[in-house]
Amino acid sequence: MPWFKRVEKGIHTPTEEKKETPDGLWYKCSECKAVTSMAEHRKNMHTCVKCDYHDRIGSKEYFAILFDDNEFTEMDENLTSGDPLDFTDSKPYPQRIAATEKKTGLKDAVRTAYGKINGQDITIASMDFAFIGGSMGSVVGEKIARAIDHARQNRTPFLMISKSGGARMMEAGFSLMQMAKTSAKLALLSEEGLPYISLLTDPTTGGVTASYAMLGDFNIAEPGALIGFAGPRVIKETIGKDLPKGFQSAEFVLEHGFLDFIVDRKAMKQKLTDLLTMVLPKEAPKSEKPKKRKAAQAS
Ligand SMILES: [Zn+2]
Repeated sequence: MPWFKRVEKGIHTPTEEKKETPDGLWYKCSECKAVTSMAEHRKNMHTCVKCDYHDRIGSKEYFAILFDDNEFTEMDENLTSGDPLDFTDSKPYPQRIAATEKKTGLKDAVRTAYGKINGQDITIASMDFAFIGGSMGSVVGEKIARAIDHARQNRTPFLMISKSGGARMMEAGFSLMQMAKTSAKLALLSEEGLPYISLLTDPTTGGVTASYAMLGDFNIAEPGALIGFAGPRVIKETIGKDLPKGFQSAEFVLEHGFLDFIVDRKAMKQKLTDLLTMVLPKEAPKSEKPKKRKAAQAS
């Protein structure tokens, strides 16, 4: 017996009278289920107005939040992945790349750019989870390496915003090499005395955690972000024990000494600026330099 029975017959609504709710007008928090308008959610930097849940965002949003007036110069924007292993899972890798490009409008899982943050020059690399789970393939590694080179050549600090499921399985060993490559470039940045801030966002896992995400002079995270190497299920199955509450959350990782601090996204730009102001070497005003030289000659 049906649960609902249409008593009146022949009820039709002409197409022009049908009303549809426009897409993306409302945002429902996946944590506390509170509903707000999309405009307000955006204004709140994609964090929940009720419970402060930090919704996942991509490079487009992070660049808009951090770069002054959303002005920046993107680097290597057309670098795309090859298919070195001739890899096929449910579909050939080149087809997967093409489909993802079409769906997301992105060329790979990271975008790199330089510009200013509160007037201070900065180079930023920001990952996109929407592109094959933010997986790290050769393009990701190469773009990050080149962004670090840009920071070194122009003597700017480097900010890495990680958001990744780990290495890209379709590039297997080539993915793993990116860990070594980016780490080596970061070592050069460090030798030149330029600061590297690593911001870990939800989620940062696998080979990304095992390389550049944990190599910052400061490793910081957004509240509630999942940070780990292997996923909780794999660990649970391996050790055969239940995991502690809040395992692999940013707060748990902070308490266990893997992070320097956690920053609310709404305070992110100012916090980063304050941090850079503290660590960047102060340049003496140009007029003072000749004076110093004279003093040295006199003595
Ligand atoms: Zn909420």
